[in-house]
Amino acid sequence: MRNKIVAGNWKMNMGFDEGVNLAKAVSERYTKAKNTELIIIPPYLHLSEVSRIAKAKGVKVGAQNCYHKENGAHTGEISAAQLASLKIDYCLVGHSERREHFKETNAELFGKVKMLLKEGIRPIFCCGEPLEDRKSELYFKTVGEQLKVLWELTPEEFDSVVIAYEPVWAIGTGETATAQQAQEMHEFIRALINEHYRKKRSESCSILYGGSCKPENAEELFSQKDVDGGLIGGASLNSDNFIAIYNSLK
Ligand code: PEP
Repeated sequence: MRNKIVAGNWKMNMGFDEGVNLAKAVSERYTKAKNTELIIIPPYLHLSEVSRIAKAKGVKVGAQNCYHKENGAHTGEISAAQLASLKIDYCLVGHSERREHFKETNAELFGKVKMLLKEGIRPIFCCGEPLEDRKSELYFKTVGEQLKVLWELTPEEFDSVVIAYEPVWAIGTGETATAQQAQEMHEFIRALINEHYRKKRSESCSILYGGSCKPENAEELFSQKDVDGGLIGGASLNSDNFIAIYNSLK
């Protein structure tokens, strides 16, 4: 049975003390349900302290990015090995903001995934179509192209991957995909996994939905057959909202 997951991407928000307080508030109110995980994904700045607080309560911790090279002269970057030295559980790869603003290429995304897997960190691989591809009905094609990065992995490597479908037009806009739109894409993604790695792996891979998910719509989205939880941006900055979204998994 695949895990249901709620992960909170704080993006570039929260001063240090504010972030520590949020991590405490979330962790203290977390009661784990079977086959579920709650993940906090703060900026690098907070990782060490948030990790200490969250892990003591069974909450997992992720990073928002890593570099695709092992180590060396890459000023300002953080490697997968450095994240592993803090025992970070997960790392986002290919968030649409990074694809758009930092022009991340498929070759770089593949490098990041490989580096993370080598260090025992689970990648949360993000995909999702921009508005123009939704309007021109090219969304399956776009997401299919983005996921090609993953089909280069061995089946055993793929076992550690979580996928997040985040339509770009729904991220931070307040406009959520309908439960039907999310289900349709998640089913498509699962079928692609089946094609590349067979049924066992397509059934065990967690596929999260992201894009203006909030307490009011989480339950309906998460009740879809192929939606295994959510990647949450804005609503993860408030402990009441974030915990309410996690509790919608139960
Ligand atoms: C995100 O950035 O991954 C995200 C889903 O943001 P929001 O929930 O704010 O749309």
